[in-house]
Formats: sequence, structure tokens, C-alpha cells
Amino acid sequence: MKQCSRRDLFRLAGAGSLALLLPAMTRMSAGTAWADDRLDPESPQAKALGYVHHYSEVDQAQFPRYEEGQICANCQLAQGDLSAEWMGCSIFPGKQVANEGWCSAWVARR
Ligand code: SF4
Repeated sequence: MKQCSRRDLFRLAGAGSLALLLPAMTRMSAGTAWADDRLDPESPQAKALGYVHHYSEVDQAQFPRYEEGQICANCQLAQGDLSAEWMGCSIFPGKQVANEGWCSAWVARR
């Protein structure tokens, strides 16, 4: 029977830890959002503010305040990495909004 050295034990423990941490680390990587975390444009809160995942979908008849160039990434209320595809928004806590999304609460970032 082969004996297990202390070095073997540390290797085994290291590999096990990595296997446990990898899924969590993958989820936390910048710009990654689970589909469930993404704001549903059909949710009542999103609909009330006219949120869309892409500015090209803005209903300009309903939201004439929209102006070209307004996107979530340059909104004062966006949070986190503004270069990421998905980011947080203080209007929709716990949800991610699209980089090129828009809603009627848009405020110019200074
Ligand atoms: S408040 Fe700003 S960042 Fe949040 S959804 Fe509206 S436009 Fe996007």
C-alpha cells in the first residue's frame, strides 16, 4: 500500500479547494451576470420606466425625453464596471441592466 506524504495531502487539498471555488470565481468575474440577475424588461418596474436592453428599442412616442447617445453605461445611476456588458443600477437593486440599455430615469453621468 502506498503511503500518502504530507506533500500529497497539500496537493489534494489545494485541488479540492480550487474545484470548490472555481464556480464562485467564475460567477464573480467582471461583466458576468446570470440570466436570472438580468432585469426583465417585461417586469412591472422596468415597464413603468420604459426600460429596454438596447436603446434602439426605446418607444420614442411614449418617451420623447430620450436623446441619441443616452445608454446605461453613461447614466449617473449605473453601478459597477461601466465597460461591462451588464452592470448594476441603483433604480433596480439586485438586477443587472445592459450596457446599451435605457430607461426614462436616465441621468447624465458627470
Ligand atoms: S437608471 Fe440609468 S442605468 Fe438604470 S436602467 Fe435607467 S438608464 Fe440604465
